[in-house]
Amino acid sequence: MPDVLTLGEAMAAMRADRPLLLGGNLALSVAGAETNVAIGLARFGHSVRWVGVNGEDEFGRLVLRTLRAEGVDVSHAVVDPAAPTGLVVFEPRVADLTRVSYYRAGSAGSRLVPGHLSAALAEGARIVHLSGVTAALGPGPRAAVEAAAHAAPGLVSLDVNYRAKLWSPQEASAALRPLVPLVDILVASDDELALVAPPGAGGEAECVEALLAQGVGEVVVKRGAAGAEVFTGSRSVARPAVRVPVRDTVGAGDAFVAGYLSGLLDGLPVEERLDRAVVTGAFAVAATGDWEGLPFRDELALLDAAPGTALR
Ligand code: ATP
Repeated sequence: MPDVLTLGEAMAAMRADRPLLLGGNLALSVAGAETNVAIGLARFGHSVRWVGVNGEDEFGRLVLRTLRAEGVDVSHAVVDPAAPTGLVVFEPRVADLTRVSYYRAGSAGSRLVPGHLSAALAEGARIVHLSGVTAALGPGPRAAVEAAAHAAPGLVSLDVNYRAKLWSPQEASAALRPLVPLVDILVASDDELALVAPPGAGGEAECVEALLAQGVGEVVVKRGAAGAEVFTGSRSVARPAVRVPVRDTVGAGDAFVAGYLSGLLDGLPVEERLDRAVVTGAFAVAATGDWEGLPFRDELALLDAAPGTALR
């Protein structure tokens, strides 16, 4: 049984070296919210399984090859010859501001259905990690997320991960609110809390209180460069972000989740889980790429080194 089971769409990722309008070069890699989390966890030494659908094409093979190379179990991943692997393009618009364009409508990844998860759910996992991105991909993926939340053999972690290009706030709320009572660890940016809190909940404190009242064990609030805070029934713990030179903020949230869940799997108290989460998030923003710069366990202290240090 793996430590973590996660599911969703992985895409081929093309990263431009300058605004697309100007041409330039595209570097090919792999991206996906849940695969980013899976890679982060695998680098910390946890056993992670990812389930998703890829096309029978070179992009799909690249996804599987990359995940295998990173130590993620893809034994239950599905290949669908009838649809292509999706594509995401990252374009550096100005400085650290990246424009993200998706080419994923009708993709293989959006053909995920609950049946694809049956075997993996039956085999179990200590944590099932879900993301709102997958629920936004269509009725099949949404049903898969619901099925995983209902059938999860252990803890359920949900990252709201709202994507305005995929659905409206109303659609997101309608899909995600019913899952809240099944969720043990809810991760959201501060501006996403109202999407999952009951209608009418006002500011952040009221949203958090309402979510905890619905049975969520831990509400983890991401605040970008301002850090993060965890609320449990009895207390809250906050941490500032780790100051690093910012290269590319995309993927910070997924890295943060990997760090947080890793701490949980290691049995760390909330304070230390949050420490690991903000450090892992900082690694993501300090390196280019969604997951490429994520730390291995023995690298966690690297950011404490003085700027300009050579690692010899
Ligand atoms: P994304 O959707 O791009 O993955 P997100 O909005 O889900 O990101 P953020 O709140 O931006 O997530 O970032 C998650 C965590 O990463 C923050 O709580 C913080 O710890 C860390 N982080 C984000 N931005 C920075 C930054 N500029 N410097 C240092 N750490 C950062």
